[in-house]
Amino acid sequence: MKHCLAALLLAAPTPLFAQAAELPPPVAVDPRVVALRDAALDDDYAWEITEGLTTEIGQRLAGSPAEARARAWAVAKLFALGFSNVRIESFPVQTGTRGTESAEVVAPFPQALVVNALGGSGLTGPEGVTGEIVAFDSVDALRLAPDSAVRGKIVFVDHHMPANQDGSGYGQFGAPRRQGPTIASKKGAIAIVIRSIGTDHNRTPHTGVMTFSDGAKPIPAGALSIPDAEQLVRILKRGKPVTMRLRLEGTHKMGTSGNVIAEVPGRDLSLPPILVGGHLDSWDLGTGAIDDAAGVAIATAAAKRIMDAGRPLRTIRIVWFGSEEIGLFGGEDYRAKYGKQPHHAMLESDFGADKIYKVDSKLGATRRDEARMIGAALAPLGIVTGSFEEADGSDIGPMLEDGQPGVGLSQDGTRYFDLHHTSNDTLDKIDAAQLRQNVAAWTATLAILSGGIEPEAKPSPPKRR
Ligand SMILES: [Zn+2]
Repeated sequence: MKHCLAALLLAAPTPLFAQAAELPPPVAVDPRVVALRDAALDDDYAWEITEGLTTEIGQRLAGSPAEARARAWAVAKLFALGFSNVRIESFPVQTGTRGTESAEVVAPFPQALVVNALGGSGLTGPEGVTGEIVAFDSVDALRLAPDSAVRGKIVFVDHHMPANQDGSGYGQFGAPRRQGPTIASKKGAIAIVIRSIGTDHNRTPHTGVMTFSDGAKPIPAGALSIPDAEQLVRILKRGKPVTMRLRLEGTHKMGTSGNVIAEVPGRDLSLPPILVGGHLDSWDLGTGAIDDAAGVAIATAAAKRIMDAGRPLRTIRIVWFGSEEIGLFGGEDYRAKYGKQPHHAMLESDFGADKIYKVDSKLGATRRDEARMIGAALAPLGIVTGSFEEADGSDIGPMLEDGQPGVGLSQDGTRYFDLHHTSNDTLDKIDAAQLRQNVAAWTATLAILSGGIEPEAKPSPPKRR
């Protein structure tokens, strides 16, 4: 095989080599960054945080008493880890509790289907709502339907989301959840059920946020698990009218949410800080392990590893955002308070804990060397360098759009939407080795962004000869 490869290389046309010659010269990575990166492959901090938060708190719905307990847990943890300026910044949100939920085909083939309410759904009483199903294979088909076809009925939107590595399908295929309920309500539907926005075949519906806009009256809105949505399709294909009874009980009320903030103070406090974070709240079905205990754990573990090594030039500010799931309210609160202040970079981990495969950045044309240095430091972890013009993150997204610089470490999302927003989002889905690869990538990135770490002055050991 070796010989064949050599022959192939020798036979390669010259332009290949000419192209290679035009690549920028290799970047030398500071050996201290390499050492920090490689040591982080044995990290235990991230697992400890993920395991602790999911075990001692569990679900932590935005604005709920559980989210308040999670904030207290976070403060105690961040303080115990030795961070400075640990604090909670509170804000009010609309919250609620989930009650009895059921979907049942009344006719022609009576049977129960598995359903969960979407966040912000209208509620039913114990009697539920009963109506004929009118089905659409996309939200566009629903939009085009005459009101008369929908009025007084329960809308069903069946819309398939394929799995992919970067999770980009979520934007496009999330439309039935985000817009479907408003469109159905405005056309006079009494309720809506959608095929879950997910990629698994478990009987675990995927909840998620939606809001009624344009003055649409709230109607009950639920997600059927994917096998149950497929069952409903088969029932509908028999050609007889299908009647469903949908019961989505619960309560809506005001509650308190908040961001938890902690810092590793830099040697030069006049320099803009680096924001690293994830979100503390979760949906109420699972224990929010991949979404997003792992995210806050990865960001925090990396900051802790920098702090253990000494004092960075720039301050690292850790933010565990509250109320991400129900509308990015934690990001909005931070942006209102600090968004106008310069930041050296913003980074957010909110896509599970599988292996990071790509780094993008948006640090500006004058900081290309810093961006290349990050790419070079991450390459041995199997991470490719993507764009120098973009970065992303849910809570930090609006601030990145405002022009704040950022770095985006993309995790493999192939199985993310099997679990996302379901009762299956639990600790056992976190792969400890991949979690450590995340921490190593974040630690190396932070070591570069933080501008150099000086060991804290320690009394020098006695000289030995
Ligand atoms: Zn999330």
